[in-house]
Amino acid sequence: MYEIYERARIGALPVSPTEAARALGIKTVNYSDICEIYCRSRRELYGVSLYGFSFEENGRRIIAVNELACGERRRRFTIAHELGHCLLGHISKFGGAKPAAAQEHDADSFAADLLAPLSVLKKCGVSSAEELARVCGLSRSAAEIRFAELTRCSLGSDELRVIMRFSGFIDKYLQCRLTSESRVSLYKRY
Ligand SMILES: [Zn+2]
Repeated sequence: MYEIYERARIGALPVSPTEAARALGIKTVNYSDICEIYCRSRRELYGVSLYGFSFEENGRRIIAVNELACGERRRRFTIAHELGHCLLGHISKFGGAKPAAAQEHDADSFAADLLAPLSVLKKCGVSSAEELARVCGLSRSAAEIRFAELTRCSLGSDELRVIMRFSGFIDKYLQCRLTSESRVSLYKRY
């Protein structure tokens, strides 16, 4: 994951999955563009997936997102999930085989790792699913799953590089936390 942050120059939350994909040469396009470029109907795309899918065309990897079905948070997770499929070698030509259930699981794990790096969240002292959802731009349900992982995890040594990359963000976040916490305790006092 560190290499992706490094290549996309990502060092703050929320992580932009579109930027990460772009840095790796993977284009993100809306379903309306896919319909136009590849002369497909929306119905055909919905047959593949309601939210998004990825495919390979002339050696280029493309992520397609349904702009009508995805709000901002779902869009971000969908792109990150599809980026996982691309990088884990799950994709084929347009209309090819759909990923297997185990591959879907791996793509979900990839998306969570990309959008919500546990090492950074731990350093930021994120202490609830709501806070995690807010800082990472995740849906409440995705944030709850990730928060459970956060409370269970211990930091691996390879995560130090990620922490270093996000160090400026972590410092700022901790300062803001401190300020808002002291404000809250002031309110409580008076
Ligand atoms: Zn998938």
